[in-house]
Amino acid sequence: MIRIDKGLFDEMVAHGLSNLPNEACGVLAGKEGRPVKFFPMTNADGSPLTYRFEPKESLRVWNEIEDEGFEQLAIFHTHTHTEAYPSVTDRKRAMWADSDQPSFPDTYYLIVSLEDRAAPVLRAFRILDGGAVSEEDVTIG
Ligand SMILES: [Zn+2]
Repeated sequence: MIRIDKGLFDEMVAHGLSNLPNEACGVLAGKEGRPVKFFPMTNADGSPLTYRFEPKESLRVWNEIEDEGFEQLAIFHTHTHTEAYPSVTDRKRAMWADSDQPSFPDTYYLIVSLEDRAAPVLRAFRILDGGAVSEEDVTIG
């Protein structure tokens, strides 16, 4: 179960809308399981269908998260024209390369669907061994 302040949710949606027609991505940092800061990131794929973190930028963000005593609570991205559910590519890229072991089994994957631009839909998941998807409760506010 993850609870996200309305302000952080609005930041994620704004980042998503500003990246259209492409997917947007970012990291939500937390402290003791509570989201505290959203880091908007560049989609290195520059694609409406997939996202990928830019390596130097993600290193800088992960260092900042560690320096501030936060944890990587969630990996965020948008879907531009489909429901907020992990795609085959999302699940594959959540694994270590050439493996069926998840890179971040304790991290939430947050997906915001912008299919209806006026009514973004947020869903939360964990991506587990072999790319299995577990949907988690998420509330805004
Ligand atoms: Zn996706």
